[in-house]
Amino acid sequence: MPCPAGVNIPACFNIYNNAFIFEDTSEAKKNYNTFIKKEMMASKCIECGKCEEACPQFIPIIKKLKEVVSLFEEEK
Ligand code: SF4
Repeated sequence: MPCPAGVNIPACFNIYNNAFIFEDTSEAKKNYNTFIKKEMMASKCIECGKCEEACPQFIPIIKKLKEVVSLFEEEK
């Protein structure tokens, strides 16, 4: 499902999950900032809720994206 704000939700979650699978937050942070374009980063989420409505697994996507931001995105 495309996000109207352009967030690459699957890529954000992939890298987020890898941080825990490989127990390596700094490598995941590097990958996040290298491979995800700025305009597709989790911080672009406008909390419209469309992805959560469409999610069959009822994943709290907005909350998880906020965790992605606090874990990976550089201080502005
Ligand atoms: S809640 Fe955020 S990530 Fe989900 S569709 Fe809306 S803008 Fe995109």
